[in-house]
Amino acid sequence: MPNPLLIDPFGRKITYLRISVTDRCDFRCSYCMAEDMTFLPRSEVLDLEELDQIASAFIERGVKKIRLTGGEPLVRRGVMGLVKSLSRHCQSGALDELTLTTNASQLYRYSDELAEAGISRINVSLDTLKPETFKRLTKNGDHEKVMQGIGAAKKAGIKIKINTVALKGINDGEFNDIINWCGDNGFDMTFIETMPLGDIGELRADHHLPLDQVRGELEKKWSLSQSSHNSGGPSKYFDIGETKTRLGFITPLSEHFCDTCNRVRLTCTGKLYMCLGQDSAVDLREPLRSDPTGKALGQAIEKAISLKPLGHNFEINSGENKPALSRYMSVTGG
Ligand code: SAM
Ligand code: SF4
Repeated sequence: MPNPLLIDPFGRKITYLRISVTDRCDFRCSYCMAEDMTFLPRSEVLDLEELDQIASAFIERGVKKIRLTGGEPLVRRGVMGLVKSLSRHCQSGALDELTLTTNASQLYRYSDELAEAGISRINVSLDTLKPETFKRLTKNGDHEKVMQGIGAAKKAGIKIKINTVALKGINDGEFNDIINWCGDNGFDMTFIETMPLGDIGELRADHHLPLDQVRGELEKKWSLSQSSHNSGGPSKYFDIGETKTRLGFITPLSEHFCDTCNRVRLTCTGKLYMCLGQDSAVDLREPLRSDPTGKALGQAIEKAISLKPLGHNFEINSGENKPALSRYMSVTGG
């Protein structure tokens, strides 16, 4: 008998799995992590073969898209082995897309291999074109290497979408420049609103910028028309008349996007989060390890989907120095 498809209690078909392959990162973006982060002990982290087994169990139940993320996915040792191994599901037609989200710090060395493994599109997070702002924001990021990496991925034929977190007082003066630069390079782009995940030791509300406000400003300069493109996710897309590229806005706070949610998130320790904005999670590591037949894992996945909540309840609370959730974005990878 074939495995059942994953349909949650609200009738949403789960076809998209994000896997945070590590919670570690070579950057410390100020809105994402505290400078003195404590990372998960390595002994708790699943090995890459185990991540492959879990991903494959999802694919057997109708998942069509997998995104590797983190932390920084490309700093996990051996990660290219996982990419190559998962790409067999694309070749067989079981998976429509295998992709990743990266800070681009390692793209200068992995772009060719990624392209060879069939990765045709990636998301690159880049919040500023200014090397000094970049250094301040990421703490130890090397802007030149990142730009070199983006160039290498482009040259390898990988389609790039740039993700930029909108930050009041940090990068809000260069949105037009970033859009121009993306247009010149043929990159689509998405603005992201800061989300209250994890204690970063400062008030996120100080830099929070509602994207409806950003869009209003951009519309004064750019011809933005509603795009027919729909990723099934939280992004609203517009076609930019001048650049012929797309501009998306991810607005978890100012507009809810839960009705059409098709995704779940796996951490590198095997916890499955059914919602980015909720703390409830189901452990898949124990069933994975206790039953080599894969039956217990399959049952745990199906049970987890039956617990997917209707939506999140994020709120940026400017009065309190507390995030809505204690978990950092790097644990589930956005
Ligand atoms: N390290 C990779 C990167 O930066 O692309 C992948 C992981 S990172 C957690 C994924 C995305 O989450 C990035 O685009 C990052 O800007 C975004 N992000 C991190 N923390 C965030 C927060 N608190 N609010 C909104 N976006 C956040
Ligand atoms: Fe690292 Fe990505 Fe978080 Fe920046 S946003 S600290 S690159 S995980």
